[in-house]
Amino acid sequence: MYEDTKKELLEICQKMVEKDLVIGSSGNASVRVDDYIVITPSSIHYADMKADDMVVIDLDGEVIEGTRNPSVEWQMHLELYNTRSVVGAVVHTHSIYASAMAVLNESLPPIIDETVPKLGSHIRVTEYAIPGTKQLGANVRKAIEDRSAALIANHGAVCIAKTLEKALHLAMVLERTCKIYMISKQIGTPKHLPDEVVEDEQDLWEMMSGY
Ligand SMILES: [Zn+2]
Repeated sequence: MYEDTKKELLEICQKMVEKDLVIGSSGNASVRVDDYIVITPSSIHYADMKADDMVVIDLDGEVIEGTRNPSVEWQMHLELYNTRSVVGAVVHTHSIYASAMAVLNESLPPIIDETVPKLGSHIRVTEYAIPGTKQLGANVRKAIEDRSAALIANHGAVCIAKTLEKALHLAMVLERTCKIYMISKQIGTPKHLPDEVVEDEQDLWEMMSGY
């Protein structure tokens, strides 16, 4: 089932590698179709991954179709789908600058006009949890509240959106903004956007986050 969706998911994974957001088999992605989730398999290098390797699970985490195990972070994906009804896709990356922010345990402040309407302001870092645990999923849910992205402590980042294409785009915007923040911090003190602008842009995020 969902052959076209599996192909699209594979293409998104290949773009994640191409854009240097992940390497090897790290990170993962999924998309919601009807009441099911199509998710990347565990421990298969993207270079070797085929559309048939994708796994279909239901919203309780039961494997419905697939010969592989679902990504080790399947519980985090489910947590996001089950608590945010507008979420249609989840992209989890180990991109360098977002991970560096997560290592510093530093939230990403509102510094770029393009970013806030897309991701929300102050992208938080989660509490630490061991990868692949239900706790990591719970921590991500908490950190991503009223946002489209979160930094995962000592680990990476996650973005949620209506579609896979948009979730990937958000992951790139997040990585780019984290990079700008880290570079500007090395030279001086990054200046945040004015408070009233952040409020307006956060309102824009609320209007656009379901689309
Ligand atoms: Zn990960």
